[in-house]
Amino acid sequence: MKTEGSRRVFSARPYAMKKHLATRLHYDLRLEWNGVLLSWALPEGPSCHAGLIREAIEMKDHKSEYILFEGVHKTGPIMLWDRGTWEPHPESEDIGGSLRKGILRFILYGEKLKGTWLLTRVNTSKNTSRHVWNLCKDADPFAEIHADRCILEEQPNSITGKTMKDIVQGWIKPRDKDEWQLRLFDK
Ligand code: MN
Repeated sequence: MKTEGSRRVFSARPYAMKKHLATRLHYDLRLEWNGVLLSWALPEGPSCHAGLIREAIEMKDHKSEYILFEGVHKTGPIMLWDRGTWEPHPESEDIGGSLRKGILRFILYGEKLKGTWLLTRVNTSKNTSRHVWNLCKDADPFAEIHADRCILEEQPNSITGKTMKDIVQGWIKPRDKDEWQLRLFDK
């Protein structure tokens, strides 16, 4: 981050939201920071309605180069549902400190998801020892105001325009380990 006059300027970081048809359909939030992808699994996906809480289960960091992967992983097909950049909200500009504290407010500049969001760590799952967070849209001009509208239903396809079926049917399994390395995967 650098400061220009009194205005703080943040450098944009890659963001992605995957749609993953594993044993159970879920979404995966990826925020690049410090050379890795901070990762949360969203069992119900995000909600654009301000104040509506969605569970976000903290996953291990993923490698940055996986961020744009779309294809068939051994756990099921993965769709690149949204992509763009993100930056911390000024109150969370110390990202490491915010993550440790368990409160991260951030801004998305995606093709689908935009505006300010809040991640709050709520507890640790007894079964998996994974941290459970709540993801919530802040009230801002990008929040959905119509109670019956849902972006997950209105825009179900990939940012490349593909359906999950297209992704499965168009997938050519890499032939060897080297090609797998090139066809980076995500989970
Ligand atoms: Mn997943």
